[in-house]
Amino acid sequence: MKIGLIGLGIMGKPMAKNMLKAKYSLMVHDLNRASVDEVVSCGAVSATAAEIGASCDVVLTMLPNSPHVKAVMLGEGGVAGCMKAGSVFIDMSSISPIASKEIAAVLAERGIQMLDAPVSGGEPKAINGTLAFMVGGPQEVFDTYKPLLETMGTSVVRCGEIGAGNTTKLANQVVVALNIAAVAEAFMLAKKADVDPQLVFEAIKGGLAGSTVMDAKAPMMIGGSFEPGFKIDLHIKDLGNALDTAHEVGSPLPLTAAVMEMMQTLKADGLGQKDHSSLAKYYEKLTGTAIG
Ligand code: NAD
Repeated sequence: MKIGLIGLGIMGKPMAKNMLKAKYSLMVHDLNRASVDEVVSCGAVSATAAEIGASCDVVLTMLPNSPHVKAVMLGEGGVAGCMKAGSVFIDMSSISPIASKEIAAVLAERGIQMLDAPVSGGEPKAINGTLAFMVGGPQEVFDTYKPLLETMGTSVVRCGEIGAGNTTKLANQVVVALNIAAVAEAFMLAKKADVDPQLVFEAIKGGLAGSTVMDAKAPMMIGGSFEPGFKIDLHIKDLGNALDTAHEVGSPLPLTAAVMEMMQTLKADGLGQKDHSSLAKYYEKLTGTAIG
């Protein structure tokens, strides 16, 4: 099976290396030459996007957002125009499920099937191959390519038809954003009431309020260290996709909209490249008090 991967950023590069470790034959492309060279040194073959489309049985993408995936696949001279009928497209980027459905519809006219397969886990899990995939698309295509995705992730779950993967990812991003905001708000309450946030964390993390988000982000807020991790700019992208999708399907997201505006405030303050735990800094600005 010939595989092509377009997009060798923070996530795509280690994911490529894990497919190579599993002895898959891999062609790669990225605008960043240094990333391509690094993956080629691990056994991949460098190719143009068009060459990947023309010669691979399955084309994977790991790109920033919907416009990038649409441009690479459907733009002028795009990959879709070069792919053979019967080949498969798997988009692992976190994009709008509306865009996934649009791309799949165009590909279907050319006899190409598609999965949307975004991931959760971030760079460390991309490196050690323990990502969680949430997948949408035809069952038989999922069954065929699940072993390929399992070279990069330990959880690979089909959530429904095309778009269901990205809808699941948006649900994930809503829960994470609101959870971080809640932790920041609660810790600021404690701090302003003269109770040590570290002791609050230790006292409540094992109870109902505890969460994976609290375990990961409370130490960053208390330590005042906001290096990413997952950047505010990327979370704004995901919440924008969540709000657009919610409006399209008639499901208002009042809490998500509020946290989106908090993140937009942080971006305007120049913190877009900081970790999303810097939602704590929004409360620090409101109160003029540091949590840590
Ligand atoms: P990134 O910005 O590090 O990488 C994107 C790569 O795409 C870059 O190397 C860029 O050069 C390349 N690219 C952009 N346009 C291109 C084009 N036209 N042709 C070829 N290459 C092109 O992003 P990332 O952090 O790797 O994230 C990729 C996706 O995974 C995003 O949708 C993101 O939301 C999602 N994601 C990221 C994380 C994370 O922690 N970084 C976690 C889960 C999911």
